[in-house]
Amino acid sequence: MKQIHQIYVDGEFVTPHGTETFDLISPLTNLKTGEVVLGDETDTRRAIAAAKEAFKTFRKTTVDERIAYLGKLHAAVSKREEELVKTMVEEYGGTLQFSKASARNAIESFTNMIQVLQTFEFQKTVGQSLVRLESLGVVGIITPWNASNSFICNKFATAVAAGCTVVVKPSELSAAQTQLIVECFHEAGLPKGVFNLVNGLGTVVGAEITSNPDIAKISFTGSTFTGKIIAKGAVDTMKRVTLELGGKSPNLILDDADLQTAIPAAVFGAYMNNGQACIAPTRLLVPENKLDEVNALAKAAVRQVQVGNPMDEQTHVGPLVSVKQFERVQQYIRTGLEEGAVLLAGGGGKPEGLEAGNFVRATIFTNVRNDMRIAQEEIFGPVLSIIPYQTEEEAIAIANDTNYGLAAYISSSDRERANRVAAQIDAGRVVINGFKHDPQTPFGGFKQSGIGREYGVYGLETYLEPKAVLA
Ligand code: NAD
Repeated sequence: MKQIHQIYVDGEFVTPHGTETFDLISPLTNLKTGEVVLGDETDTRRAIAAAKEAFKTFRKTTVDERIAYLGKLHAAVSKREEELVKTMVEEYGGTLQFSKASARNAIESFTNMIQVLQTFEFQKTVGQSLVRLESLGVVGIITPWNASNSFICNKFATAVAAGCTVVVKPSELSAAQTQLIVECFHEAGLPKGVFNLVNGLGTVVGAEITSNPDIAKISFTGSTFTGKIIAKGAVDTMKRVTLELGGKSPNLILDDADLQTAIPAAVFGAYMNNGQACIAPTRLLVPENKLDEVNALAKAAVRQVQVGNPMDEQTHVGPLVSVKQFERVQQYIRTGLEEGAVLLAGGGGKPEGLEAGNFVRATIFTNVRNDMRIAQEEIFGPVLSIIPYQTEEEAIAIANDTNYGLAAYISSSDRERANRVAAQIDAGRVVINGFKHDPQTPFGGFKQSGIGREYGVYGLETYLEPKAVLA
């Protein structure tokens, strides 16, 4: 049994004032694997006070000093890469393949920020005057469970680069992964108080971070529902916010695309991280006159999708994080059937032989209309909706007919045409022909997928406040 009974405040692991406990449950077996003691408002205030004190000196660090700290963090996290992967797989059922990529992203956050710092100008002449970009202050970092350490590392790396100090509240479902990453940060030996972490509930620790006047900014990744609560609460003390929220990303297959490649990739892509990815391409938009061919290719592809033990290198879809998430996805599958979508593969219930864990059958609905709930709402499970369209214009309209705008994907054999379509899509990231990640480009959403951007120069600027000095 894992016992996580300490939080991290002012450079030390300490016993929290809060005494409530939260059970850690394996998504593979639904058996209890451990317990985490949850911090409370008192713990959060202590952590914020430590970060506030540390900020007084950390804001004055030079770029070279910050680069050196980022180097130490990179070295400390790199050492434990294998453990990071193992803990992710065990804790929330992420597949080995996904967890490896996510751990890599976490580690590379530090080198990516070093690269940004090497050319970033904290001082510029604008007009006749000097503009200084100054460290914002104490940043509250609130994260979800679906790639926990990658979010924590990227946000913390950006804070260090900006000379900010932080208080992290991770998802209560990520306590084991978080414990490991905090051990790495502790080993890196940054000045005390620069990094603090309080395990706890969103409504307790998250709410204190949201309302506390000593927090200058909140960097949040999670659902649009929670993002709105945080944004409303943050405005009372005029905190800056970066909100990375949900998505219902369209995957536009143009009529000149190579379907043999694009459709299997679309099916596997929709199931990334067991379908629990904000950027998953869950709406597959295809030409109506090719729907039969698409259905046949999608059906063939889904037969290759292995649902099972996430430890197995061959597995594409592991169990969902919790029973609650499993039930939620089952409800959406029932909704899809009630709405009149055609079930092409999968469906309700668990795959044979996998009854103990939170396994969902790899599911595809076809003949989906974009106004159906399964096309509009984020399901966060391995459920793909195929939506037919008649013209390119209609495809673009359907792609944009959503409250979300995080990512979009386009397949076409004509690069210029794909670029033309990309220019008309309302999404923070449009990826052409495949699934790519470029860590120096801004990441974030249009519309209700969020506010602000992370990564690279754009991410760094959101941890800084411009000051014009007119002489
Ligand atoms: P969630 O919104 O339920 O929780 C996220 C975090 O917010 C958790 O730490 C939670 O404890 C905390 N929280 C909950 N209530 C709070 C409150 N009232 N005040 C302050 N904090 C509170 O999300 P989740 O279920 O953990 O994660 C899944 C969601 O995250 C999905 O919607 C997904 O799309 C989104 N997500 C977005 C991105 C992105 O980069 N845009 C990346 C990954 C996940």
